Amino acid sequence: MELITKKIKGTEDVLPKESYKWQFVEDIMRKEAQSYGFKEIRTPVFEHTNLFSRGVGQTTDVVQKEMYTFDTKGGESVTLRPEGTAGAARAVLEHGVLNEGLPVKASYFVSCYRYEKPQAGRLREFHQFGLEEYGTSDPVADAELICAAQSIFDRLQIRDIHLEINSIGCPRCRKEYHKALREYFGQYKDKLCETCLSRLEKNPMRILDCKSPEDKEIAKNAPKVTDYLCEECQEHFQQVKSYLDCAGVEYTVNPTIVRGLDYYTKTVFEFVTDYIGAQGTVCGGGRYDGLIEELGGKHVPSLGFAMGMERLLMLMEKQGIEIPAPSPCDLYIAPLGEEAKKKAFALVGKVRESGLFAETDVVSRGLRAQMKYADKIGARFSIVLGDDEITRGEAVVKNMETGQQTKISLNEDFITEFIDIHTEDVNRKVAGV
Ligand code: ATP
Ligand code: MG
Repeated sequence: MELITKKIKGTEDVLPKESYKWQFVEDIMRKEAQSYGFKEIRTPVFEHTNLFSRGVGQTTDVVQKEMYTFDTKGGESVTLRPEGTAGAARAVLEHGVLNEGLPVKASYFVSCYRYEKPQAGRLREFHQFGLEEYGTSDPVADAELICAAQSIFDRLQIRDIHLEINSIGCPRCRKEYHKALREYFGQYKDKLCETCLSRLEKNPMRILDCKSPEDKEIAKNAPKVTDYLCEECQEHFQQVKSYLDCAGVEYTVNPTIVRGLDYYTKTVFEFVTDYIGAQGTVCGGGRYDGLIEELGGKHVPSLGFAMGMERLLMLMEKQGIEIPAPSPCDLYIAPLGEEAKKKAFALVGKVRESGLFAETDVVSRGLRAQMKYADKIGARFSIVLGDDEITRGEAVVKNMETGQQTKISLNEDFITEFIDIHTEDVNRKVAGV
């Protein structure tokens, strides 16, 4: 039989046997975010298109070429979110969250959509974990945010991931810098790609982020933004670095980082690795002091980062980092016959109520097939339940690993007795007996 369709190019499925890896990483991120005071925000997968064209920036790759934009039946232009920052900012503004006391710290898990050329580490649907903080211009906040990303990598036992930081200044110092860039790139008009030619006038800094190898080569000798920072931005950058030193976080200053989105000011940073090929940026972020105003709010200096979940999981796999397998089934009850099936159905219910993981037959299989299934799901204990057991009100619990057998009553004591056996077994395992 032929399938009527397959998944869309550039999308990925996470299958039941793999999802524990995502859950493990997400749990660590959630806990780490909480310990830094961030609370989760959830926003819709689609937004009015102008949120992104204004928020992310007209001259960015994302807005110019990568967005999934369409008209609804009502004639509205909507876009599948290409990133999480703009939606989160829209939501906190719309609900007046920024009037309830600053700073506001929000975390998110989002699926993102970008029409890019699919390749390793570059998908059309991908996932991000991110942190956003609104309402502080203090450089200690920049350092704290970077520390949060670093502690997530540490908790996940990721090695060889390098923090690169830069400052791209404020609109004031950028004026001078743009002038210098226009002069420099102006000499290479005949060599630059078409997109970069259009950027030359509107936003020459974008050229530094171009992926084309020729443009990259030209960009190598371009003026460095750090030479054009105003005094305030220089001081801010200096402070961020000294707070990072204070926290013992290692970094290198990379004056070529400008980041792909338009709203960044001052601090920008990336966590980069050589382990996963060309798409080696696992996390990107920085300060975006102008975004909230751009979206119609007051001047609320803010900052944030986003990590690519797929790239992160790929990196962990490449580094052979072991993710603990989910706990196996505690008890499998194999019923023989209709009456036993009902009893088993009731008993697994009790086991689950006590917080343990239990299964019984739901496909009318014979004993052999059932025990095979119990093995497959790694059941630690099993009970075979037939007419005899029901008449006697007693059955035998078998430890599937050691073969040890223990009698258990099938009445109201069932759950206490089973928990006793189970706990003893777990304690023995912990003690290494
Ligand atoms: P790149 O330079 O790789 O295109 P970007 O600057 O477009 O990245 P951001 O918009 O800053 O990326 O997104 C933050 C993170 O999200 C990236 O560092 C990366 O880990 C991940 N990411 C971005 N685009 C994709 C994609 N198409 N597929 C998978 N992950 C992605
Ligand atoms: Mg990109």
